[in-house]
Amino acid sequence: MEGSRWPRVTGGPDGVLSLEARDGVTEGVLRDLARGAVPPPFSVRTLRPLPPVPPGERPITVDQTNHSVVAGETVVVKWFPRPSRAPHPAPALLAHLAGFARTATPYAAVYWEDALVALVTAYLPEARDGWEWCVDEAEAGRTGFAAEIGALAAELHLAMATPSAVLPDPVRLSPPGSGAWLGRAEEALREAVALTDGEDGTWLARRAEALRGELAPLASAPATPLIRVHGDLHVGQILRWRDGYAVVDFDGNPTVAGAEPYQPAARDLAQLTTSVDHAGQVAVRRRSAGRGATAAWAAAARRDLAESYARTLAEAGRADLLDRSLLRPFEVEQECRELIYAARHLPRWRYAPMGVLRTWYA
Ligand code: ADP
Ligand code: MG
Repeated sequence: MEGSRWPRVTGGPDGVLSLEARDGVTEGVLRDLARGAVPPPFSVRTLRPLPPVPPGERPITVDQTNHSVVAGETVVVKWFPRPSRAPHPAPALLAHLAGFARTATPYAAVYWEDALVALVTAYLPEARDGWEWCVDEAEAGRTGFAAEIGALAAELHLAMATPSAVLPDPVRLSPPGSGAWLGRAEEALREAVALTDGEDGTWLARRAEALRGELAPLASAPATPLIRVHGDLHVGQILRWRDGYAVVDFDGNPTVAGAEPYQPAARDLAQLTTSVDHAGQVAVRRRSAGRGATAAWAAAARRDLAESYARTLAEAGRADLLDRSLLRPFEVEQECRELIYAARHLPRWRYAPMGVLRTWYA
C-alpha cells in the first residue's frame, strides 16, 4: 500500500499531533520523494532538487530534540515527533538563505496537512556538534576555533540581512527605547530567581540587584536594526565536519514562547558566546578541566569570537548590524533562561549556568 511507507501522524484529543517514523520509513519516503509520489494529506515544499540517495538508513544517536535519520550517507531527514500546525520558521529561512553555503544544503520540507513533519538536508560527513568539539577545545585550552565561529555567525547574519525573493525587506529598525526587551529580560531574571532553590537560589537572590543592573542598557536602547535571527544559536547547532564549520537547526527556540522573529543580531551573538562558557562548564564537570584555567579559556574564546564577529561585519560594511550595548544584557538574560530551562525541564543542567554566573560574579 502506497501510504504504509510513510510515517503515522495521529492527533490527540487536545489537538496535539504526534508522529511515528518506524525503521525503514525514511528510506521509503525518500524513494517516493524521488519519483514525486507523495500520498495526501502529506505535501512537499522543494527547496533544491533532491540528489540520488543510495539505500540504507541509520538514526543519529546524539542528544537531540527531534529525530534525525541519515539516509544513504547522503541526506539527513529530521522528523518532528510533535509536529505543530503553527507556522514553522525553518522552511522560509532556509529559502531566504539560499546564498549561504555554510549550512547543510536544504532540499525539502515535508508537511502533513498544515504541520511541518520533516526537513531534508544534505548529510555532512564526520559532523560533530559543539557539545563535543567545543568541550574538547575547552579541555585542551585551545581558542583558535573562536575566531572561526565568530566569522561564521557574522556571515549568517550578513546573509539574513541580504534581501531575497522570500524576504525582500530583511532589515527593520526598532523603535528607540524598545521597552519590550527590558520587560522580557527582567521577567526572565524574576523567574530564574523564583525557580532556583537551595544554595544556588540563595546565591542568586543575593546577586539579583547586580544582575538587574546589567539589564539597564535595555531601558535606553537606541533605535537599532532588527533581522531574522537564528533564534537558538548555541555551539550545539554548530557542526564541525569534514570541510569546516556549518550552522544547522533553524527551528527557533522552543523555550521562548512567542518571541518576535525580528531581533537585534546581538541576541544570537549573546547566546553563542554564553554557550562557549557552558561548554567550558561541561569540560569542568565531565572531563575534570580546571576551574580557573577554564574560566580564562572561556574569557579569551568569547573575546576572540566577538572580535571576529564584529570584524567580519565591518569588512562587509555592515558594522551597524551589531549594537554592542545590547550584548551584555542579552548574555545575562540568556543565563537566566538557562536556569529557567534547567528548573522546568532538565535539573541536571543547572550547574552550567550557575558555574558561569559564579565565574562572572565571583
Ligand atoms: P534538533 O532539532 O534535534 O536539535 P539538529 O538539526 O540540531 O536537530 O540536529 C541534531 C544533531 O544531528 C546535531 O547535533 C548533529 O549531531 C546531527 N546533525 C544534524 N544535521 C546534520 C547534518 N546535516 N549532517 C550530519 N549530522 C547532522
Ligand atoms: Mg539542535
